[in-house]
Amino acid sequence: MRGLAAVPSYVVMQPTTLCNLDCAYCYLPSRALDRRMPVPVAEAVAESVNPWAAAGRFSVVWHGGEPLAAGREHLAALLAPFGPGVEHHVQTNATLIDDAWCAFFVEHGVRVSVSVDGPRERNGDRVTRGGGPAYDRIVRGVAALRRHGLPFSALAVVARPGPGLAAELYDYFLDLGCDVLGVNIEETEGVNLRDNSHDARLVTAFWAELVAAWRRQPRIHLREVEWSLRYAAAVLDGSADDLLPRRLDPIPTVAHDGSVTVLSPELAGFTDARYGDFSSGNVLAAPLAEILANAGRTPWVGEFLAGVEACRSSCPYFGFCGGGHAANRYFELGRFDGTQTAHCRNSKIHLLEGVLEHARDHQ
Ligand code: SF4
Repeated sequence: MRGLAAVPSYVVMQPTTLCNLDCAYCYLPSRALDRRMPVPVAEAVAESVNPWAAAGRFSVVWHGGEPLAAGREHLAALLAPFGPGVEHHVQTNATLIDDAWCAFFVEHGVRVSVSVDGPRERNGDRVTRGGGPAYDRIVRGVAALRRHGLPFSALAVVARPGPGLAAELYDYFLDLGCDVLGVNIEETEGVNLRDNSHDARLVTAFWAELVAAWRRQPRIHLREVEWSLRYAAAVLDGSADDLLPRRLDPIPTVAHDGSVTVLSPELAGFTDARYGDFSSGNVLAAPLAEILANAGRTPWVGEFLAGVEACRSSCPYFGFCGGGHAANRYFELGRFDGTQTAHCRNSKIHLLEGVLEHARDHQ
C-alpha cells in the first residue's frame, strides 16, 4: 500500500455545519453555526461521483454537524444531482427522526447510522444545546426507524474503556435492533482536548470482552471485531499482505463551502500556520476527480505519507492498521509524520491484542 488512490470508495458531504446537540467529546469547531451547503456544491461533486458510481459501488455519506438539521427540503435538493447508482448514508444523532424523516429515507433510499453510546447512563456526554440529556430524543428517533422497518447501523463512543462495559454495551445494541455496530474509543481531536490515554490492560480487556460477547450472539456485524478476525485469519493462512488496499483511500470530505479535505474529515474547518486550511481544492473551482488526482501534492499529505512509511518500517501492527489516521497524528503529535498515537494504541494495537487475548483464553 503506497500513495493515494485517485478514486475513493466514498465521499463525505457536510450539508450543514450545525448540530442541534452539543456533545462533550465533539471535535467539530462550527457546530453552533448553520452554514448550509449550496446546491451547486452538490452538483459539482455529483459530476465526478456519478461516473464512479456507474463503474462500481459508490457511497455518499452525509455527515455534519447534524445532517438532518439541514431540513428535508434542502437535503432533497442536495441529493437530487446524484444518479440512481449512488448509495446515500446519513450519520445522525437520531433526535430529529420522525415519521416524515422515515418516509424521506425510504423515498431517497438513504441508509441510516445512529450515534448512541449505549444505555441511558452511558450517554452523559450526549447533551442538548441547553445541556440537558439527549437520550430520550435519540431513543424516540430509533423507535421511529423500527416502526417503519428501516434497518440501521449504530456508532458508539466509549470514553472510559474497561472490563464490564463491553458486554453491557453489546447486549444493549442487540436489544436496540441495529444490524451493524461500530465502537470508537473517544479521540482527542479537533476542539475536543480531553485526554484519551488509558491503561493498556483495561483497553485490551475491553476489546477481549467485546469479542466474547459478540461470539456468544454474532447477530450484529461488529465492525472492529470482524475486521480484526479477518486479519488474524489472513495471517494464519498467509494472505495478510493482500488485505490492505494497494493505495490509501483518499476519503474526501466536501465541506459546506465546497472545500475538499482528504483522509480525515476531522481536519475540515481547521487552519494551522504551517499547513493552512488542510484543503486540497474546492469543487466550485475544479472537478473533484482533478482535486483528488493532485491531492498527493498537498504539503501535509506528503508529510502524512512519510509518516505511513515510518509506521511501515517500525510498527509490528502495520499490516493490520495501515498507518492510522491523519487527524489523530496532527491533533496528538502536532504533525503528520510521527507514528504511534494514543488513538492507535486504543483502537488498533489494544484491539488486536484483545482479540488475541480472547483467542488465548478460549483455546
Ligand atoms: S498502530 Fe500506530 S504506529 Fe502502528 S502502524 Fe498503526 S498508526 Fe502506525
